[in-house]
Amino acid sequence: MTEGSTTPLPTPLATPPTLDEETWRSLARTARDGRTPGLFRQLARLGGCTDPIRLDGHRADFDAATGEILRTLHGGDLAAGALMVRCNNRRATRCPACAETYRQDTYHLITAGLAGGKGVPAEVTAHPRVFATLTAPSFGPVHNRPDSGRCRCGIRHDDGAPELGTPLDPDTYDYPGAVLWNAHAGALWARFTIELRRALAASLGLTQRGGAGVIRLSYAKVAEYQRRGAVHFHAVIRLDAGPWIAGDDIAPPPGALTTDTLDAAIRTAASRARVAGPGADLDDPGLPDVFRFGTQVDVRPIAGAAFESGPVTDRAVAGYIAKYATKGAETATGTLDRRLRHLRDLDHQDLTHHARRLVVTCWELGARPDLEHLHLRKWAHMLGFRGHFSSKSRRYSTTLGALRAARAAWQDARNRAAAEAAGHPLPDPDTTLVIAHWAYAGHGYTAGESLISASLARTRQLDRAAAREALADQEQED
Ligand SMILES: [Zn+2]
Ligand SMILES: [Zn+2]
Repeated sequence: MTEGSTTPLPTPLATPPTLDEETWRSLARTARDGRTPGLFRQLARLGGCTDPIRLDGHRADFDAATGEILRTLHGGDLAAGALMVRCNNRRATRCPACAETYRQDTYHLITAGLAGGKGVPAEVTAHPRVFATLTAPSFGPVHNRPDSGRCRCGIRHDDGAPELGTPLDPDTYDYPGAVLWNAHAGALWARFTIELRRALAASLGLTQRGGAGVIRLSYAKVAEYQRRGAVHFHAVIRLDAGPWIAGDDIAPPPGALTTDTLDAAIRTAASRARVAGPGADLDDPGLPDVFRFGTQVDVRPIAGAAFESGPVTDRAVAGYIAKYATKGAETATGTLDRRLRHLRDLDHQDLTHHARRLVVTCWELGARPDLEHLHLRKWAHMLGFRGHFSSKSRRYSTTLGALRAARAAWQDARNRAAAEAAGHPLPDPDTTLVIAHWAYAGHGYTAGESLISASLARTRQLDRAAAREALADQEQED
């Protein structure tokens, strides 16, 4: 462990060393005996987060009526010398543990909007609902694996070949068009939703205003990067009754609106949606003057059971969206998973030629004052896209915030029960005033903490595998 002592904060994603089995077991036994539990308990609560935030400060709980101090907590008194909280990064490449939590929450959020639950009525299964994919247009031919087998370059590429998604001719590929499309993709989606509401209203012979009163469009969407570095949108789109019929409740839309109506309206809206590009104002032939979706639009009905044409059960759709919610451009296109401070930082990165050129194009266009509003340098690592990865309309289902609050409340109840059982109950939150002040004091683990945290994670993994095996054995016996 000599190298550990010279690097106090290990790089997050280098596989951290674990204690050897025997040392770990003896330490864990000591911890269970209650002799050295503090650090173990504090680290175990982080649930395997690879890069937790360290906070310095204190908190005091007062009795709201008498002003009596009920308890105080100083970060420096904690076992790790600081309060530690999870990083909550949704990117799987940054923190697998926190990304997994995010993925599960997204899955539950999407499922609730399709199957009901968490405040959504179960009748939503009968609403018109589809899974739609909107694509980016072409910016020049790229290496691919067409159904015919042979790429335009004449080769049959293997699945996963590094050249897939990269331009056949990088010199004629429209790099500015590609990153500027990403930079406008969020606005284009917003435009699409307006056109979709308009098309649905028209299908009932209503004005836009009438449509907005009678029909509510509920959706959840996620952005997925293609290998070529362009953003695609996948969305669950559901039709509900509008506020004139249902108020704030979720209820079935007018009967004339079917899955077929929704399908046709999505295709119409996707072909009509457009956003003005910078070329229109700047009179610059090198820049696009309009952005639109690609001609490939995929719309599939969602059912409780699989359709012949596709994967689209509600669970499959939820799993799909949740998976993409934890991935950025780094996974498919092989770019960076964090912000770039200087272009020279790219020198130390293992990027493909194509990914590098997309990032550099963002960086160069980002220097132009007339494109300043697109913040292309800030979002160069996202290849220009600065929208939300996953987002939803207000009435789709519950929120990630509500799911987190429910988890926090559950954890709090558990802590209270444990404290009660241990004979030192926590102050009643209803009559307690909490004054806290915490400030950022760094992130990551010390070498020692990293050892314990990684060993805890290994134990959790082994326990989970054992539980799965036990369950499988039991099912076999049944
Ligand atoms: Zn984390
Ligand atoms: Zn090819």
